[in-house]
Amino acid sequence: MTQKRTYLDHNATTPLKPAVRDLMLEILAFPGNASSVHKAGRAAKKRIEDARAAILKAVNAGPQAVLIFTASATEANNLVLKNSGAERVIVSAIEHPSVLNARTDREIIPVLPSGVIDLDALDKMLINNDRSTLISVMTVNNETGVIQPIEDVVAIAKKRGALVHTDAVQALGKIDLPKGVDYLTLSAHKIGGPQGAGCLILSNCVTVAPLLSGGNQEKNMRAGTENVAAIAGFGKAVEDVSPLPSTLRDALEKKLKAIAPDLVIYGEKEKRVSNTSMFAVPGFAAETQLIALDMADICVSNGSACSSGTVKASHVLHAMQAKDAEAALRVSFGWDSTEKDVDVFINEWEKIYNRIKSRQCPK
Ligand code: PLP
Repeated sequence: MTQKRTYLDHNATTPLKPAVRDLMLEILAFPGNASSVHKAGRAAKKRIEDARAAILKAVNAGPQAVLIFTASATEANNLVLKNSGAERVIVSAIEHPSVLNARTDREIIPVLPSGVIDLDALDKMLINNDRSTLISVMTVNNETGVIQPIEDVVAIAKKRGALVHTDAVQALGKIDLPKGVDYLTLSAHKIGGPQGAGCLILSNCVTVAPLLSGGNQEKNMRAGTENVAAIAGFGKAVEDVSPLPSTLRDALEKKLKAIAPDLVIYGEKEKRVSNTSMFAVPGFAAETQLIALDMADICVSNGSACSSGTVKASHVLHAMQAKDAEAALRVSFGWDSTEKDVDVFINEWEKIYNRIKSRQCPK
């Protein structure tokens, strides 16, 4: 009998929810082209509009909000960072690479050792600001789970005449989304929806220029035939997102601390989303732990998933000036996680811990 995989990497991607998969399979038989005027086209268009309405409702968007579907949150982030028209762009040091690397002329807001952005530093950066400015700060950090003070960012921005973008990919379905932002990014595959579907929500009558030349889909802001099945799957996934209780995360952290008294939990004292725990034991290389856990068919991460599949030190922990970054592991729970997953992880991790400890020389 094959053992069930223990998947504890939901901040990287989540398994498809069964209702999403069923709907997508039905649509994939013939998605239709939403730009066609015939019945098949109109059916495709309706699928897209239903998904758009479901997502706008789920995020409590205001009446003026406009939602643009994209092929990923990465694309949505690039769209706003590159094409909002702002002369000056300010982003936090702990953003996802799709924000951090979207332009070379961005200025960086530092973060405090707690993992929260430095609001005073942001305020100072905006003194005497006379250029049109976009500030981009994520709602929840994907590595530590630390919740950022976006409504304070909005207050500072409004005082200084700047616009605000937030990458809310890791916040959707976990906390209420912040109010007052001008641009907001979401991704389907972090909430039990499909990979390859994201969106940018524009509020307060702002716009973006398209990244791609082509047809006039998505109000002329995102050319290309819409991925009907993925968009509909996104809409379906959003219908039943509800925050996980912190029971599994808390049980995990309690058991980890009982095994390893020297365990460090990043952002522990700050407000964090209830599904994420990032921790380290000094001197325990993350790579060694990841390999041993993988051999036991347990999936966790060392921070952000790297496209190359290699393990590299986290820019988030570096920005926090955190110690032991090379030892940091991230466990993230999701809609299909159970207490048994915690027990399987702890059982295996304790063996790894004892093995590594037994090889260490006493100090
Ligand atoms: N932003 C954050 C905070 C993320 O965690 C991710 C995914 O890891 C992305 C953006 C990119 O999302 P996508 O895979 O849809 O491009």
